[in-house]
Amino acid sequence: MTHSYAIGIDIGGTNTDMGLVREDGTIIARSNIPTNAYTELVPYVHDIIGCISKLMKDNNVDKIDGIGIGAPNGNFYTGCVDNAPNLTIKGVLNFEEEMHKYMDVPVVLSNDANAAAYGEMVYGGAKGMNHFIMFTLGTGVGSGIVVDGKLVHGSTGGAGELGHNILIPEGRQCSCGRKGCLETYTSARGIVQTFCELRAANGPRDVKEGWIPDTVKDSDVTSKMIGDAANAGDPIAIATYEKTGYLLGIAIANSVTFSAPEAIFLMGGPTKVGEPLLKPLRESFEKHLLNIYEGSCNIRMSQLKANEVAILGAAALIKMKQ
Ligand SMILES: [Zn+2]
Repeated sequence: MTHSYAIGIDIGGTNTDMGLVREDGTIIARSNIPTNAYTELVPYVHDIIGCISKLMKDNNVDKIDGIGIGAPNGNFYTGCVDNAPNLTIKGVLNFEEEMHKYMDVPVVLSNDANAAAYGEMVYGGAKGMNHFIMFTLGTGVGSGIVVDGKLVHGSTGGAGELGHNILIPEGRQCSCGRKGCLETYTSARGIVQTFCELRAANGPRDVKEGWIPDTVKDSDVTSKMIGDAANAGDPIAIATYEKTGYLLGIAIANSVTFSAPEAIFLMGGPTKVGEPLLKPLRESFEKHLLNIYEGSCNIRMSQLKANEVAILGAAALIKMKQ
């Protein structure tokens, strides 16, 4: 059987990860370069193309269907990355045009959360689904919305920023400049802030094995530590995830009214805690779901591996141009 291949590129502020992806979602080989070593687009794309050529040559692949790129502020319509604050290469970066100087294949960009959602549809647990929403919990909270089998881009290419829906009026300060966004409560940082607030309100305590001791400073607490502590019975860590799940459940129930999805997918580090998050989340979701949607939508975990989703999501994007 002859296989077809695509390149998936995940552009992060620190690293650029690339993968040669077979049509069945297998990453055949990977490569990476440090994004923050570049301040200009031309040498950056030159080196990316060098990596792609090597990946293809080393694996005896002489033809690819296209190059998909997941990037912060990646714009599907223009093929550009628009002024991404966390990149050392500044301005509006026309990746599509620059890459076409080397390779005559489709180049498709989108932001990383949208790419993750599309990857779930092409290679993961949303295969065959036409309506779903993916929430990605990490440093921030991203989302990608698929309606009628299509990823929603909107008029600007920037649709699907449900992490910046204001959930608590005049609540916590968000990186976007507004207050009370979902992200400020349910991102890894938001979860840490909730834990620190609850711990301060609780006062000094005796801790058991696996709990987070008072000697760990607020600035050293991570969402992973809180997750481990919750699973070891730490009541403040458990209360942290109860609050997180409660708020996320409201946000997810609200999102269902928008597009009537068959499923909501979750991915990202903070979701790995399991039941301490998922139990209150499901309870809150069911409690706050509008009754006409009862039983039509459930919450599921991403079926893609955490270390593969970014490359697979990017590679999946080229399916939109086929
Ligand atoms: Zn915000």
